[in-house]
Amino acid sequence: GVPKLQIPGGLMLNVRDTGAPPGVLFRDISPLLKDPVAFRALIDLLEDHVRASFPKIDLIVGLDSRGFLIGTPLAQRLGIGFVPVRKKGKLPGATECISYSLEYGKAELEVQSDAVEPGQKVVIVDDLLATGGTMRAACELLKRLKAEILECLVIIELKALKGSEKLNSIPFYSLLQYD
Ligand code: AMP
Repeated sequence: GVPKLQIPGGLMLNVRDTGAPPGVLFRDISPLLKDPVAFRALIDLLEDHVRASFPKIDLIVGLDSRGFLIGTPLAQRLGIGFVPVRKKGKLPGATECISYSLEYGKAELEVQSDAVEPGQKVVIVDDLLATGGTMRAACELLKRLKAEILECLVIIELKALKGSEKLNSIPFYSLLQYD
């Protein structure tokens, strides 16, 4: 069967073993999104965390694509704006682009050049941190725009991959950790 996991606040998350390359256990947040009570509980937890940690924050930055699903409701709750970081070739106008290596091959991320003003305080949101390569690349992009990165925030952290070490001194927070 599909294991069920308890995360703080009584939130249930299904874990599926499909949808990823062989040997990779895909941590699927779809059941969480589909359950309105659980989804609300998730956003409650993230909102509480951000409000308690950062008295002043200008923007939520979300990573393509599950970071959008978490980041947009969170930004609305906080009453602040949302900025998407997208896979290359999706955003109109002037962009900053960064290429980074994945376990197999390469990927590229983009942000609109005028998305953030210098000095604006941002929290970067995604569903999951694995090797940390994606989050690290997003941090690089935001640094180029001279954003002040308050934190990288995810629902799930795959601890064994030590992805948070890749983020160097940037604060990192996860709601749920797997070994
Ligand atoms: P990484 O760059 O290795 O930290 O990978 C993180 C990105 O890939 C996130 O956007 C995740 O959505 C996705 N990802 C990586 N591994 C998994 C996994 N085992 N289950 C679900 N999503 C994953």
